[in-house]
Amino acid sequence: MSIEKEIAKRRTFAIISHPDAGKTTLTEKFLLFGGAIQTAGAVKQNKIRKTATSDFMEIEKQRGISVATSVMGFEYNGIRINILDTPGHKDFAEDTYRTLTAVDSVILVVDCVKGVEEQTEKLMEVCRMRKTPVIIFINKMDREGKNPVELLDELEEKLQINVRPLTWPISQGMNFKGVYNIYSGQLNLFESDQTRITENFIELQDINSPELDRWIPSSFTKQLREDVELIEGVYDPFTVENYRNGSLAPVFFGSAVNNFGIRELLHTFLDIAPSPSEREAMQRSVKASEPTMSGFVFKIHANLDPNHRDRTAFFKICSGTFQRNTFYFHTRLKKKLRFASPTQFMANEKNLIEDAWPGDVIGLYDNGNLKIGDTLTEGEELQFRGIPSFSPEIFKEVINRDPFKSKQLDKGVRQLTEEGVAQLFMQHGNRKIIGTVGELQFDVIRFRLEHEYGAKCDFMPLRYCKALWITSRDKDQYEEFLRRKSPVIALDKEEHPVFFAESEWMLKVAMENYPGVIFHETSEFK
Ligand code: GDP
Repeated sequence: MSIEKEIAKRRTFAIISHPDAGKTTLTEKFLLFGGAIQTAGAVKQNKIRKTATSDFMEIEKQRGISVATSVMGFEYNGIRINILDTPGHKDFAEDTYRTLTAVDSVILVVDCVKGVEEQTEKLMEVCRMRKTPVIIFINKMDREGKNPVELLDELEEKLQINVRPLTWPISQGMNFKGVYNIYSGQLNLFESDQTRITENFIELQDINSPELDRWIPSSFTKQLREDVELIEGVYDPFTVENYRNGSLAPVFFGSAVNNFGIRELLHTFLDIAPSPSEREAMQRSVKASEPTMSGFVFKIHANLDPNHRDRTAFFKICSGTFQRNTFYFHTRLKKKLRFASPTQFMANEKNLIEDAWPGDVIGLYDNGNLKIGDTLTEGEELQFRGIPSFSPEIFKEVINRDPFKSKQLDKGVRQLTEEGVAQLFMQHGNRKIIGTVGELQFDVIRFRLEHEYGAKCDFMPLRYCKALWITSRDKDQYEEFLRRKSPVIALDKEEHPVFFAESEWMLKVAMENYPGVIFHETSEFK
């Protein structure tokens, strides 16, 4: 098949949500729908099985969250769907942000009872920054939630994006009757079923047709007609173009656990979601259809078996065809590497593959050559953009507890931070400061340092609340700043200077006093 055809049949996306909104349930229903799994419960069962096999993952199990981001691929109606799973827990937000750099679009799940939650806002901020097309799925309509019109207002206000409902719920909670598909004029009646996909829908030519009243009580039809009229009047018409450029989010209503509204969502998603197109590198923009292979690493996953310290790098193909056992150019190390056993993830299985195309995510066995953000090409000097680090919120200094193991500690800290577990900042030679978005990572780091590297450490809390990357607007002033603030300046993994702020107020003062210094919220700036 030609590369254009392979690209056109691929959809690579992530389902994101605040924990408990229904991301796992929706993922599972998609797999069920695609025939990739046979029974409901398989996705969760898989999580539990995995955790039972390793001590480290025991941490995850105890806290009931998913640390790992995995990939699930399946074919549906001739389309190759790659779902990148993301941890919902706040403490692993950085992992999720990085995964978002590898997708072409996103489905955002919102709980209709809770509305827009804290994590939803943060995730949407990352999507907005990258202009990622977003579809919103309002879940749990079988519960008494917020009024749908108010929910739409809340989405627009809190997520700062224009929305356009494409389906509309007919009542909700106990009275939930179904959804009306505004886009196609189909009526889908609600029948609670958690294990099968029901195909119970009725096609209507016109929402005003008396046919509607045959299926649902007149009190509900009246409300539905009024609602739909209101929507058509208030919201701009839906255009695929506005969705794809990230300025308009279509909204669907349903109930994931009951398989309801999933069909409308999946079908519209397949119709409108973008295939891989192009991606920005420092040097130029790379089109997916270019014949030569290029791609980047967005995640590194340590082997769960501590006796084998090898790792799996998750590699997203951006252009050309990736082939097994072929030499590729590692642009940071300037050396050629070849991979004898690249794997692809189909539903719950991992398979060896011979080749892969743009949009695909493959697992590369790595023994220390690959870092997050690394680019592989067929020889061209390229570095893909878009894996920025965001400022951590909690900072602690690493204190070695076993002086005989300082080499192991250094190595462990370096490797774990390369995996993206946390950010490492170095100060005055060998003082190590670790920055994270949540306390949980410190437990993970301590545990893994001890079990995988045989090193023991303590963490001493520091009073900083934010790290900002700094560059110069005025050389003299910049150098004076570095000198005067040296106790609160450190270097990140690329040896770029960062400034630790103890409070927003201190940051404001520094900005006012040093207009010659530019402060950046993320590590990537032009
Ligand atoms: P995640 O943390 O976002 O992955 O959320 P889960 O998919 O694990 O769902 C969280 C809880 O909400 C589970 O107990 C689900 O069974 C439940 N849930 C998911 N979808 C629905 C729904 O449509 N209606 C109701 N009532 N509960 C749901």
